[in-house]
Amino acid sequence: MISTMTSVLSDESATLEFGAKLAAAMPAFAGGALKVALRGDLGAGKTTLTRGLLGRLGVRGSVRSPTFSLLEAYELDQLAVIHIDLYRLRDAADVRGLGLADYDRPGYLWMVEWPERAERVLGQFDLEISLRGVGTAREIEIVAATEVGRHWLQAL
Ligand code: ADP
Ligand code: MG
Repeated sequence: MISTMTSVLSDESATLEFGAKLAAAMPAFAGGALKVALRGDLGAGKTTLTRGLLGRLGVRGSVRSPTFSLLEAYELDQLAVIHIDLYRLRDAADVRGLGLADYDRPGYLWMVEWPERAERVLGQFDLEISLRGVGTAREIEIVAATEVGRHWLQAL
């Protein structure tokens, strides 16, 4: 079973489409939340990818970047998506104020930008996604870090 893949996303619409594919390929919940780490510099496309995913899951209207709120929750029919952006987190301990423990169970999908700000309290990610600029395009690398993640990647 494959556990890594890379691809080139030539423009913004390709990033949105990739997020949509990720949503379509999402596996069933197993023992806990599904967790996706989104790594890459400011402007790499982490929020854009999440917008594509949320759109495919049926979120209509604008998707706000959780830059200042740190967390935006989207309650959908079959699941809730927790979009987290820890760029502005001052201290890893402050992540406790977000009440993430309430979301750490089946039925919740976490999309986490800047996980490196609080790595140790976020737990194991199923997918590790890295984005980086290549000219005006983006390169995406996905590493599946769990069994659930490998099934997810397989279905992409
Ligand atoms: P991040 O959340 O990583 O800081 P954003 O998604 O907010 O980044 O912003 C990414 C910027 O790059 C947006 O202006 C978006 O239109 C653009 N973008 C997204 N994906 C691509 C791509 N594949 N190629 C070129 N530009 C892109
Ligand atoms: Mg962002």
